[in-house]
Amino acid sequence: MAIATVNPFTNKTVKSFSDDTPEKIEKSLTAAAAEFSRWRRTRYTERAALLHKVAAIMRARKDELAKTITNEMGKLIAESVGEIELSAAIFDYYADNGERFLADKPVKTERGEAMIRHSPIGVVLGVEPWNFPFYQVARFAAPNIMIGNVVLVKHASNVPQCAIAIEDIFREAGAPRGLYTNLLIPGKGIAALLGDPRIKAASLTGSEEAGGSLAAAAGKNLKKSVLELGGSDAFIVLEDADIDKAVEWAFVGRMNNTGQCCVAAKRFIAVDAVADEFTRKFVARMSNLKVGDPLDKATTFGPLSSEAAAVHLADQVERAVKDGAKVLLGGKRIDREGAFIEPTVLTEIKPGSPISYEEMFGPVAVIYRVKDEQAAITLANDSPFGLGGSVFTADIERGKRVADQIDTGMVFINHPTWTAPELPFGGVKRSGYGRELSGLGVEEFVNKKLIRVSGLNDPF
Ligand code: NAP
Repeated sequence: MAIATVNPFTNKTVKSFSDDTPEKIEKSLTAAAAEFSRWRRTRYTERAALLHKVAAIMRARKDELAKTITNEMGKLIAESVGEIELSAAIFDYYADNGERFLADKPVKTERGEAMIRHSPIGVVLGVEPWNFPFYQVARFAAPNIMIGNVVLVKHASNVPQCAIAIEDIFREAGAPRGLYTNLLIPGKGIAALLGDPRIKAASLTGSEEAGGSLAAAAGKNLKKSVLELGGSDAFIVLEDADIDKAVEWAFVGRMNNTGQCCVAAKRFIAVDAVADEFTRKFVARMSNLKVGDPLDKATTFGPLSSEAAAVHLADQVERAVKDGAKVLLGGKRIDREGAFIEPTVLTEIKPGSPISYEEMFGPVAVIYRVKDEQAAITLANDSPFGLGGSVFTADIERGKRVADQIDTGMVFINHPTWTAPELPFGGVKRSGYGRELSGLGVEEFVNKKLIRVSGLNDPF
């Protein structure tokens, strides 16, 4: 994919960028490795001060940065502002809590003294997606920089201006050269890069295909990887749920970021007793949107991230319909310029059919009707993915029992799957492995080094 800004509201190319040359990549690697030998010896207070500065600059420039996001990938402007605020909160969170997370952990031992010390591992590579171009980078960069690692970031090819803006913010905050470096290279170039001994580990957020390719290269080179991949979250509505609240959250869970969230609610599973009411109200809620320019605050429904994404989603809907799905709302491209597809609600997709196992990355909701709670759990788990999920019920203990039986990395009761700096984020099955955010986010790319003190006269 060529590295370029193509505004999805117009489908016009705004600016193109050249790939980094091999010489530039070599310089970036050399600078990163050199900076690691210095950064690893800095104090936590110095690292925290830098992250706080990054957060402050983001907040001060949030309107301009939000515009860059919207122009590159089409997110509604209010959501783009929200993303900048969330990203700043993540930088502050690791600045405030990193030292505590990384403090020595004493190990109980029969004799003498032992502890786990958290040491940095070196240059870490992050491969990031376009759907949250600031937030995804914050999740990766903030904990690593706090640990004492240095980062290389290969951002998605359709958000180069976001990538460059983040690097500039680090520079403005006073980050030394080599601490945070963009690589403007295509995704296909990543596997070869992992052979470089200066890169110690890699994290990728994106599709299964890209994740598989990175993990294979990391495995071949005996390097650790973390993968945050796709999802097809179930949103279970039980008969004792507050249906109006469930409908409102279902709408938010599906339509946030125009449906392009890995943790979007994608499969709505309602039990018989409430399926009709939920479906009627949900379709009404999805119908009530103002299509337009995502930069206009009055717009409530914008384009997808790219023309290719809209074409792919329309093709999935068409295949679902050919396979017997019923269209309750939408289902077609919107007849106007830009990467638009109608807000869509499908039902009667056959559980177990190939399309039922695909992730629909956009404003397409699929409603399933099941007889009871157990059938809802079984259907929720009938997915190759295991990222998030929700259960709506008036009985919280029942919600926890259901949550316990859902095979995903995250389950939310009476809320769509969501994110906050302090909540661990990640999945199981084909949604990947490892965790980002929270205290767990500093544990992936750190050397948990044992330091053992023995008395000179201790026996063997
Ligand atoms: P994608 O094509 O996999 O792109 C993601 C990143 O991977 C981009 O930087 C891309 O670079 C790079 N890439 C592509 N092919 C690669 C390869 N062979 N080796 C290494 N890197 C490669 O993802 P997408 O389809 O645009 O993004 C949507 C997907 O990401 C969805 O499945 C979504 O659910 C998932 N996602 C998951 C999470 C999570 O936390 N679990 C969060 C957000 C999104 P180029 O742009 O240069 O191709």
